[in-house]
Amino acid sequence: MKQIYLDYASTTPVAQEVIDEMLKYLSFENIFGNPASNTHEYGWYAKEAVDKARQQVALLICADSREIVFTSGATESDNLAIKGVADAYANKGKHIITSSIEHKAVIDTCAYLETKGYTVSYLVPDQKGQITAEQVMQTIQPDTILVSLMAVNNELGTCYPLAEIGALCKENKILFHVDAAQGFGKIDVDVRAMNIDLLSISAHKIYGPKGVGALYVRRKPKVKLTPLIHGGGHENGYRSGTLATHQIVGLGQACVLMQKKGNSFYRHVENLRAIFLKKIEALPNITINTPLANSYPGIVNITFEGVDGEALVAMLHNLAVSMGSACNSASIEPSFVLLNIGLSQQQAHASLRFSFGQYTTVREVHIAADSVVAAVTKLRALSEQCGMGV
Ligand SMILES: *Cc1c(COP(=O)(O)O)cnc(C)c1O
Repeated sequence: MKQIYLDYASTTPVAQEVIDEMLKYLSFENIFGNPASNTHEYGWYAKEAVDKARQQVALLICADSREIVFTSGATESDNLAIKGVADAYANKGKHIITSSIEHKAVIDTCAYLETKGYTVSYLVPDQKGQITAEQVMQTIQPDTILVSLMAVNNELGTCYPLAEIGALCKENKILFHVDAAQGFGKIDVDVRAMNIDLLSISAHKIYGPKGVGALYVRRKPKVKLTPLIHGGGHENGYRSGTLATHQIVGLGQACVLMQKKGNSFYRHVENLRAIFLKKIEALPNITINTPLANSYPGIVNITFEGVDGEALVAMLHNLAVSMGSACNSASIEPSFVLLNIGLSQQQAHASLRFSFGQYTTVREVHIAADSVVAAVTKLRALSEQCGMGV
């Protein structure tokens, strides 16, 4: 492929060491057994592999391996956490706190619960997507059962004060769920120190395979959770279905990779974002929507005033970037996240998300920045010729 890949926030390629490990759990010559088969070696070895992956996942968030429930990804984990708690604690209360810029897996799950008689408060972030513990505190009601907030915003890169919010939730005996799909393995997450009760994880944002993730569920004090998927009682009854050994091993190996190299990947993307922005900031009339001092540096979201995002993406045919929006064939809806941090429809349409990863090179970032500067300058000149101005 000829495009420069700057969309690591949407997904990452699978690291070679992860692929190598996964291949050991597929064929007849290897370990293909059902981890739930406890009468023969095929099953025992598969279970061993799953147990090892469970420890590898737990280690990265300072959890106990018995607190890890494997799922199909962060979307399922978010659903299990939020619906599971809502159902199990319905007799205690029916109020949930989240924000207006969560991932759709959280927003739509909360919206569904609203149709079932629950009340949801959507915290309103500032212009850079930031939310304070103070806001959470002021929204707590006697019947609040759950606070669900993300670790890192997927469109902006914004980070959240998890430890402060966790302490607040603990004090008020409210459960705290964190969608950490973008933060897991990339920023420090310690479920004990941060008083997190439930945490959603995805493999494909950290160089693991798509279609696998996990939910951390606190054991002490025990979090009650009604399962979404009933069946053979796998994963302590929280999530039935034959465990996808090769996928789970892939998630585990991705965790090992992040454990070893997470810090150097962080410094790498930090350097890339700085190089990128140094060039981009030469452009007039741009707004960086990401709070640079309070964000994961692998993501930056920028509004190019007066430029149409679709035209810009079309002109940047050498780059794989995202408008951070849900596209369908007929129209491109502007990102609800950008609208909810106060951008106009037009500004949201003029915004792009660039996200970097371990395979992004300095050279690629220079090319990308030069392309963006050239394209924005050209589009602005064109619109001026047409008398539209900027
Ligand atoms: C990618 C992502 C998800 C969804 O994860 P899947 O594993 O693809 O289901 C949820 N939340 C956030 C913040 C994400 O970035």
